[in-house]
Amino acid sequence: MNAKRELTLDEVAEKYPEFPKLIILKTDIQRRGVYYTPAALDAVDPNIHHLIGTDIFGSRDGKLKRRPESFSLRDGTSVISTPTPLESNPYTVDFIDGRLVLTDEGNVIEEVFYWEKPDYYDKRTSNGALMQNVVGSRPQRLYLIPNRYCHFWTDDQGCRFCDIVNNLKQLKNEAEMQTRVNPKDVSETIKEALKEKGRFAAICLTAGSDFHGNEPFDKEIDYYVDILQAVGENFTAKKFPSQLICTAVTKKQLKRLYENTGLSSLTMDIEVLNENAFSHVCPGKTKWVGYKEWKKRLIDAVEIFGEGRVNTGIVSGVELVKPFGFKSEDEALKSVLKEADELASYGVSTVNMVWIPRPNSHFANEKNASLEYYVRLAWGLQEIRTEHNLKIDFDDYRRCGNHPDSDLARIF
Ligand code: SF4
Repeated sequence: MNAKRELTLDEVAEKYPEFPKLIILKTDIQRRGVYYTPAALDAVDPNIHHLIGTDIFGSRDGKLKRRPESFSLRDGTSVISTPTPLESNPYTVDFIDGRLVLTDEGNVIEEVFYWEKPDYYDKRTSNGALMQNVVGSRPQRLYLIPNRYCHFWTDDQGCRFCDIVNNLKQLKNEAEMQTRVNPKDVSETIKEALKEKGRFAAICLTAGSDFHGNEPFDKEIDYYVDILQAVGENFTAKKFPSQLICTAVTKKQLKRLYENTGLSSLTMDIEVLNENAFSHVCPGKTKWVGYKEWKKRLIDAVEIFGEGRVNTGIVSGVELVKPFGFKSEDEALKSVLKEADELASYGVSTVNMVWIPRPNSHFANEKNASLEYYVRLAWGLQEIRTEHNLKIDFDDYRRCGNHPDSDLARIF
């Protein structure tokens, strides 16, 4: 018997007319990836455009060659995507008749716009560090990766979709990237970035896990406190618009973070909303925290940061990987949304990332889910937030841009 045929972009758009088509397109670009033609690469101006090479994860074709980091659509939607080999059937970015366009099978679909790099990118700190390597960016947010090493990788317990340490090795070989940033460099870079008035809405920090310390993850938290205090030197208010993506730590550690820094919102990514899948996908998180405890710590964090200030991310699609995954997309959707609804009833929001199978991860040869699945999931997650009256304004289309579901929050 043939497998069920997946619906195309146009068919999904026709079936879900209430779902904005540009966000369906963005989702499909994330799902399939992009290929830049020579003409599209010729249109890149390194003096103007934001080039690849500061991200925490690697590209889908495994190369670090200087290419555009990504692009936006005509409604301002940022697409977080990555160069993908042609044989994987990606969309194509081409330069035709003086316009940068997205094409599929030779048909022009949309005009697209390369991201522009911030003014501070090519400057250096007083220590000589290249500022773009200290604090990266997306179109409207600063993106700081304090530690590019994840200690779960030490005994091969990294999350199976993740390539952080392999990406770090490549960045160290081919660019001037350090594993950890220096708080003084951070303070100076943020100061310089804030000179570009109105460009950035918030700062986001994300890093690898570090279970060292008197209590597991104390060292991770100590370092975040140092870095966030360095960021805070540039603000007069007690709290500044910020998001930390970290390991699920204890209430005591969370209090330390909240009370000693200007941090205003928190993300602790559970990666997959199913206990069995979690144990296969995230062996390090399972060993050091555990699925039920991860959820409990998310709920505890609401007491400290407040409702609408705590969320968790899922790498959607990994819950379908065989042999441990759900048998069908319908079954997965029902179960994942049920667990997201339970978390929302305690004030914890769930956002989804479209899973990109990366060549330097354990799941390199797996396949992500259908476009229709991602559209139904995004819709379901946004509906849950609406029902529970949860805000997501610290992780929406402006502050992040990597979650099709929270892109919907500006409309619904
Ligand atoms: S915790 Fe998992 S997803 Fe995060 S950096 Fe480590 S291995 Fe990667």
